[in-house]
Amino acid sequence: MSERPEPLEALPEDWSTALCVVAHPDDLEYGAAAAIARWTGQGKRVVYCMVTSGEAGIDGMHPDECRTVREAEQVESARVVGVDEVDFLGLPDGVLEYGVPLRAAIAEVVRRHRPEVVITGNLRDTWGGANLNQADHIAVGKAVLDAVRDAGNRWIFADQLTGGLEPWGGVRAVWAFGSPQSTHAVDTTDSLEAGVASLEAHRAYIDGLGWEHFDPREFLEGNARQAGQRLGVAFAAAFEVFPMGWGE
Ligand SMILES: [Zn+2]
Repeated sequence: MSERPEPLEALPEDWSTALCVVAHPDDLEYGAAAAIARWTGQGKRVVYCMVTSGEAGIDGMHPDECRTVREAEQVESARVVGVDEVDFLGLPDGVLEYGVPLRAAIAEVVRRHRPEVVITGNLRDTWGGANLNQADHIAVGKAVLDAVRDAGNRWIFADQLTGGLEPWGGVRAVWAFGSPQSTHAVDTTDSLEAGVASLEAHRAYIDGLGWEHFDPREFLEGNARQAGQRLGVAFAAAFEVFPMGWGE
């Protein structure tokens, strides 16, 4: 390919709270953790929400044991990038369905944390080439886009609005990392190390994959360098942006 890669636009950083909603422990660490380390370093509040506990993710480990291992790895992985709060919704790994129940579960989390930015993973069919995306990722990403709007409407999932929980319509945008249709990016040159450490915290999972030569650093640096070239910095994390306000 001799074509010059499309430049990426810098993401805004004039916000203070982000909620990250992904299907599995380790999803954020493959594309967003270095960006999150940068933002927590700026004093922003970032909260993680895992829709499943990734309990079906390790072939040689029963889900009952795997759930505990992967939740612990995720909590440690979050801590490494300055995130103290990790919610686990406990929905079933591998068989998530896009639909009203999933939207309701995510809308409730949005109402509780009241973020300005919601981060999720790639919801497109592929990663850009022929490699197919995974069904849970697509279901969660699509449900996040809807749940952010549901959260602002007091007549949708109204049964949630008890005990002081209020509608929240303050999400300005959803940002999806790992998307082949990325348009924006953030400079992660100074936070890439934290991102690598965050992925390395998923040791049992990475070992369980049995990928013989998988090196977290090499993998993350390769992607970050490509995005960095498009942003004009050494390393960056790229995102597809879905504006949630009007007139954008
Ligand atoms: Zn995943």
